[in-house]
Amino acid sequence: MAIAYLNGTWQAIEDAKIPILDRGFMFGDGVYEVIPVYDGKAFLLAEHIQRLSLSLAEIKIINPMDDAQWAELVLRAVEKSMETNAIVYIQVTRGVATKREHVWPEGISPTILITVTAAPGLARVYADTTVKPYTMITMEDFRWQRGHIKTTSLLAAGLIKNAATAQGVDDAILIRAGLVTESSSSNVFIVINGVFVTPPKSCLILHGITRDLVLMLAHKSDIAVEERDIEEAELYAASEVMVTSSGRELWPVGFINERAVGDGMCGPVWKMLDASFQVYKEAQ
Ligand code: PMP
Repeated sequence: MAIAYLNGTWQAIEDAKIPILDRGFMFGDGVYEVIPVYDGKAFLLAEHIQRLSLSLAEIKIINPMDDAQWAELVLRAVEKSMETNAIVYIQVTRGVATKREHVWPEGISPTILITVTAAPGLARVYADTTVKPYTMITMEDFRWQRGHIKTTSLLAAGLIKNAATAQGVDDAILIRAGLVTESSSSNVFIVINGVFVTPPKSCLILHGITRDLVLMLAHKSDIAVEERDIEEAELYAASEVMVTSSGRELWPVGFINERAVGDGMCGPVWKMLDASFQVYKEAQ
């Protein structure tokens, strides 16, 4: 059952309301987290709570709770929802102002929203044969230069994703000054000359929790890994391209700008890492 926690009150999602002067509504002045729940367990919860703290600090909202309190609240939300495979959203905005102005008002409390909704598709199992590689285009990365902050201001991501779907593809790989940054809601990896490569952490990309896990799994499998800049041309020279996110785990990319990546199918490195991912997930 979908459930919402809004500023201390548990309610049905469709009943949860915020005032129009909430700065999240007025300015997109807030940050968020997305946490997958597998078999009733919130996956990598501590990592998500830590990134939430970093995002809050970056936009100078005083964290309303400590890590243990956040964890307890998320676990309570999952329990109340009674869902086994679900997605938890945490959204924290600067709070409700008394008038619309850019300067941050003093003395207001952040708005805290947690929702849990069912996501039966998350329960993917080892050697899933239904994974269909994404088709992608490349697009200029016109987003702001604070990509490491997980802001609720997702206008640019929406523009990119909708431009991609209007062209009949799944998403876009973003290019800034000739280099790959990430996709509209995922991090990007390529396999080139047998090396598994992803752009380094910077303020131009979100520091994905799934990215970190997949890098750790690659190291453990003795796959050569490099965190370095990726030129756009390398996307076409790569034998495999894949993306990571909390919602899609590790997902292969089969076509970029209508050119096949490898043979356009799920590649061997993806298969190996996806298998390790599923094993890691089940062991949690
Ligand atoms: N980059 C962007 C822009 C994202 O929005 C996301 C999450 N949806 C990611 C990368 C992946 O991050 P994570 O693995 O923590 O979900």
